[in-house]
Amino acid sequence: MSDFEENVSHLGEFELIEKIKEMIGKPGRGELWSGDDAAVVHAPEGNLLLTIDTVVEGVDFDLDYATGEEVGWKALAVNVSDVAAMGGRPVHAVASLSVPPATRTGTALGIGRGLATAADRWGVSLVGGDVSRSSEISVTVAVTGRCERPVTRDGASPGDAICVTGTLGGAAGGLAALRAGRGRDFPDLRSRQLLPEARAHEGIEIARSGAHSMIDVSDGLAADLGHLLREGLGCSVHPNRLPIDPSLVTAAPELGLDPLTTAIVGGEDFELLFCMEPDRTGALGAELTAGMTVIGEVTEGHAAIGGRSLHEWKEMSWDHLRSR
Ligand SMILES: [Mg+2]
Repeated sequence: MSDFEENVSHLGEFELIEKIKEMIGKPGRGELWSGDDAAVVHAPEGNLLLTIDTVVEGVDFDLDYATGEEVGWKALAVNVSDVAAMGGRPVHAVASLSVPPATRTGTALGIGRGLATAADRWGVSLVGGDVSRSSEISVTVAVTGRCERPVTRDGASPGDAICVTGTLGGAAGGLAALRAGRGRDFPDLRSRQLLPEARAHEGIEIARSGAHSMIDVSDGLAADLGHLLREGLGCSVHPNRLPIDPSLVTAAPELGLDPLTTAIVGGEDFELLFCMEPDRTGALGAELTAGMTVIGEVTEGHAAIGGRSLHEWKEMSWDHLRSR
């Protein structure tokens, strides 16, 4: 029988762990990974970052349109993105996988493979984990990182340039395409949703450039920009400057989406949003592989994107992404 005809209950917990262990790398000298009561790793110097995230079937992903590999990749990538948003470099990861007994073996092994592939992509050591039984699939990943100078969400001042890496709206466009059963017609958008690229290298460069504050765009530009503006600060963001994902612009008419609203309200692009001295943006932009765009500035006035307040944008539901 193939892995997609057989259930994990036939394989058993220990054999599943053994097969996933084969996918991950080998410990460095003096380190002990999976197999004992706890992993032993060399502690990074300086500040240690630690972050964790859980994805749950039916809430964060749907196996009707995502493969096990994609679920595993994204579960690790979102943690790398959080480390990047602090200006850090990811170092170690542990993962916990819960599966119902009726889960296809191929799906469970695929999640392991996705975790291992993403760990490899960002040079993270996946040093151990846990497998248990549950009523729906869930994957929890914790990642450590190191950083010289953490870049927090606070720290922006009036006059700072507001910048974002890469493009916006692609992940939400991908979700719309997948929900419409049209993921195959829009492979770029599908990837933005299911195989996000954490901006690990960019996060370190942005921290080095002296950025004042940073966050990764997980809940959408309007919501995450709000997190960078402490009491008394506002922003002026120009809609015509927003780097809307070109694949979204192309696909929007067929998907019935308004590209601008999708770029502002849609989430999960995992780009880095940050504030810095305006005269330093040019030099930084040349360093970033993903590119960056100055989208506006921090003010002492209202927090707005175009004619709408951040609050009004945030209130817009999924239905408002539709073009009218
Ligand atoms: Mg975050």
